[in-house]
Amino acid sequence: MDGLMQQRPLTLAHVLERAERLYAHKQVATAGTELLTYAEVTDRARRLATALAALDVPVGARVGTFASNSRRHLELYLAVPATKRVLHTINIRLAAAHLEYIVDHAEDDMVFVERGLLPRIWPSAGRLPRVRYWVVLPDGSDTPVPADPRVMDYDELVLGAEPFRGSFEGTFTLADEHLASGLCYTSGTTGPPKGVLYSHRSTVLHCLGTLAAGFVGLSESDVVMPIVPFFHANAWGLPYSAMLTGASLVLPGSSAEPVHLLQLMEAERVTVAGAVPTVWTSLVPELRAFDLSATRFLLGGGSAVPPSLSETYRAAIGVPITHSWGMTEVSPIGAIGGTRTQHEEATEEEKVAVRAAQGQPLPLVNLRIVDVETRRELPLDGRAVGELEVAGPWVAGGYFRVEEGDSFTDDGWLRTGDLATIGTDGYLRLVDRMKDLIKSGGEWISSVELEAAIASHPDVVEVAVIARPDPRWTERPVAYVVLRDGGAATAEALLRHITPMVAKWWLPDEFVFMDSLPRTGTGKLSKSALRESTGGV
Ligand code: ADP
Repeated sequence: MDGLMQQRPLTLAHVLERAERLYAHKQVATAGTELLTYAEVTDRARRLATALAALDVPVGARVGTFASNSRRHLELYLAVPATKRVLHTINIRLAAAHLEYIVDHAEDDMVFVERGLLPRIWPSAGRLPRVRYWVVLPDGSDTPVPADPRVMDYDELVLGAEPFRGSFEGTFTLADEHLASGLCYTSGTTGPPKGVLYSHRSTVLHCLGTLAAGFVGLSESDVVMPIVPFFHANAWGLPYSAMLTGASLVLPGSSAEPVHLLQLMEAERVTVAGAVPTVWTSLVPELRAFDLSATRFLLGGGSAVPPSLSETYRAAIGVPITHSWGMTEVSPIGAIGGTRTQHEEATEEEKVAVRAAQGQPLPLVNLRIVDVETRRELPLDGRAVGELEVAGPWVAGGYFRVEEGDSFTDDGWLRTGDLATIGTDGYLRLVDRMKDLIKSGGEWISSVELEAAIASHPDVVEVAVIARPDPRWTERPVAYVVLRDGGAATAEALLRHITPMVAKWWLPDEFVFMDSLPRTGTGKLSKSALRESTGGV
């Protein structure tokens, strides 16, 4: 027997109209520019909706964005999906060949590009004939704008249009909740980039899942700063989640300078911020120079947060970095770390270990681990290590225009490529990415654990451990280390430091000291680039 409840679509149009109706006075601050209210942002989104229609951008068309975290980008986040078009957030750090591949593969009908970023994308315009319009978002820079009939100014476009006066939400039927709302390509470290096509339903449910108390748990009183780029899996959903709950937003714009970010956090009294661990690491030297007393929750994800980094924050500002595990394919958040009531009596050391875990799956997300060879499900006992598989209403079930059998199981779960344990209490703990594990003498070494041990030395700012081919052992670990300014640790000192923490045969064959480590387009430490430049595997 069916229930008798109303069947209403879950849509991002609701997010827009709720922010407009309930939180009109709440603010969106973009660094270096004026402050806007949600009323102003949603009014401009309504004008943009009219402008898109006037330009004959078809329903379902992909609309590219090539921009930093700014309020104009937020307007696109709202207007494009609310009008049933698909927001394709393009990674601004891609090499030209990848960029062109992605824009072409997505068949972007138009691209909105921040003025200061024109030099990175305009040289490709000639090879992207399908893009009908290039709309330039003012960003305070005076980068020359090409004189070309396809190029137009964003503010002129928006201000020249009347706001759409109807209800966006009212244009959606129940079936429409499955329409694509956003498109985000994975970085393509193994093969060409693959497009993850979010739907209205998946995006709204992801927001609600992360909003649950005990997870990210945003509320109207929060001031949320997504440092994670808007092109990195919808900035982990933070912009939509903030608007849905009426939290204020602080957008860092194009600068990722540590002092700039910290000044903004202090000045805007940011309560919640999210960033990859490399960014959190970059803020450490200046951390104590700023008043971050308003901060209550820091989210770190995209790669493992070394426990020593989280503890540095807890000591300096009283707030640890909470793990979030996710992938572009998981919208992206699948699990959130932190302690539960069962840990109240635990010692501080035990709590540090709990916080080092990737944590509990969000409501509606299911996790399991399977044996890599037999694909048989493994026990959830906190000891068995297997490949993590994930299922849930905001987890990809396929890739955009790619046949990708290998990434999904016969019963529709996503294979993550991550190795993990899951405890009896459901806590997920990542051991390593399968491709980053080091195979030594038929046994595995976790690069993540080795890195955490090395990073706990006070002189170490950042470390990446990768494998070096070895005739006897197949592979051996080599650690690439960045020391803090004035840090004097030697290889011998680091070896001494980690010897009590890891098995003897895990000890790296070599420590190589570097000025910096390579980054991926989303700002994470790039082991593949490191392998390429060092002959590692
Ligand atoms: P990319 O493959 O380009 O890094 P994603 O940003 O989708 O693309 O990265 C997903 C991967 O990042 C996960 O499969 C996992 O290996 C890693 N990851 C994400 N969050 C965490 C975390 N909290 N701890 C450890 N690893 C993480």
